Amino acid sequence: MASDTPFRLGLNVVEDGSSHHEFVGEVADIDFDLEGLEAEFLGPIVLRAEVYRVGERFEVKGLVRTRLRVHCGRCLEDFERALEGDLKIYADTRSRRDGRTNEETREEDLGIVYHDGQYLDLSDEVRQVLLVEVPWNPVCKSECRGLCPTCGIDRNVDSCRCDEDQIDSRWGALQKLKDQNRSSTE
Ligand SMILES: [Zn+2]
Ligand SMILES: [Zn+2]
Repeated sequence: MASDTPFRLGLNVVEDGSSHHEFVGEVADIDFDLEGLEAEFLGPIVLRAEVYRVGERFEVKGLVRTRLRVHCGRCLEDFERALEGDLKIYADTRSRRDGRTNEETREEDLGIVYHDGQYLDLSDEVRQVLLVEVPWNPVCKSECRGLCPTCGIDRNVDSCRCDEDQIDSRWGALQKLKDQNRSSTE
């Protein structure tokens, strides 16, 4: 990953107290792995964040937003969805962590990221927020009726008689069975 990601906050410009920061990047900037999901990010990834600084400690609360185009798993049509998720982290200097044992680090690391005194890189956090928000089993709408497994027609826009035909043939098979029974007992 490039060291100068768009989600890197230069700490020298952050005043003590609270301040507002906006970051705009692309999916390539955060190394996002769609893991085979057929999808495409549309437009930039935007992070709007309130940063609260006390000395070398930072609290970052923000909103990550972008748009995604995916295939519906039922009707296979493309659809777009807005992705939006909250980001909240605390950041401290790396030197504070390095003095501790591994055990201590693990306990206290939850929700904490470390900066080098110059930069705070939020790329990992942005990626994690989007990992939660991406629809991994995308369905265009909860009432999507999908495709007919027999003839492949899109049931949202058209209808077919495959279900009825299937029921008819099942009844037919049952009728045949009855006829056979009758003829064997006679
Ligand atoms: Zn659908
Ligand atoms: Zn059909």
